[in-house]
Amino acid sequence: MNHGAAGPLAWTVRVLTLFPEMFPGSLGLSLAGKALENGVWSLETVDIRAFARDKHRSVDDTPFGGGPGMVMRPDVLDAALTQVTGGPDAPDRGRVIYLSPRGRLLDQELVRELVATPTLTILCGRYEGIDERVIEAHRLEEVSLGDFVLSGGEPAALCLIDACVRLLPGVMGNVDTAGEESFEWGLLEYPHYTRPAVWQDPRGQERVVPEVLLSGHHERVRAWRLAEAERITRDRRPDLWGRYEQRKRAEEEAKTIRKRSGRRPGRFGEGSEG
Ligand code: SAH
Repeated sequence: MNHGAAGPLAWTVRVLTLFPEMFPGSLGLSLAGKALENGVWSLETVDIRAFARDKHRSVDDTPFGGGPGMVMRPDVLDAALTQVTGGPDAPDRGRVIYLSPRGRLLDQELVRELVATPTLTILCGRYEGIDERVIEAHRLEEVSLGDFVLSGGEPAALCLIDACVRLLPGVMGNVDTAGEESFEWGLLEYPHYTRPAVWQDPRGQERVVPEVLLSGHHERVRAWRLAEAERITRDRRPDLWGRYEQRKRAEEEAKTIRKRSGRRPGRFGEGSEG
């Protein structure tokens, strides 16, 4: 089923699921929903059950080797994937993702990569997951939302698509916000404040907005925000902080090297910046 009215250059997502009625769900509302309506992106949901061959329309079976739960059948999934992507060797198949706790963790870097791909196909698992041979044969890219287990890939697909859609040109009202947010610079975001400037909290205590934000001094505000983002990241996420420090060091070294190598003899013999 197709949702929205896709424009000619729309970013296209195709979702294979046993529960097509879960879509567009939250993606049909607010900014993502408006963009879907306006053809900025397009969503096609494919009912995996439509590819079942037997009279019971079964899509799953018991696992070889025993154990609990059911496994989604490779023949049914293959039929669905081949119809949607054109098969593993189709030149324009785009990226084909299987949402799975074993996958590469979704982060802002991966989101940016996926938005840059014109066509995305997402397979949502259910039960214990899918037959391993489909993952291999269709070269599925496994992507995880985090170290926890959902009952199905659909909520993960909604999250992944949401994160992508908000980066599409024209979806967010203020184009600048996306570049300032958590993770864009490898840091968590600085704290936000809005009116009233003095607010009485539930215990009757007056809480004021940090002075610098009322100063109208853009450079000081920028410096304060960066310092806060750094403090929060250092306190809460040593993993991000380590990478940020590394990146900063590398950038500084690169700057020094550029400076040195750019210093060739000038017209009068002294060094000049290249
Ligand atoms: N038996 C599996 C879990 C299956 S959960 C295991 O132990 O790893 C059923 C389906 O939910 C999966 O096939 C997958 O599509 C989806 N799912 C569950 N957790 C997920 C996560 N953290 N990220 C992405 N998809 C997930």
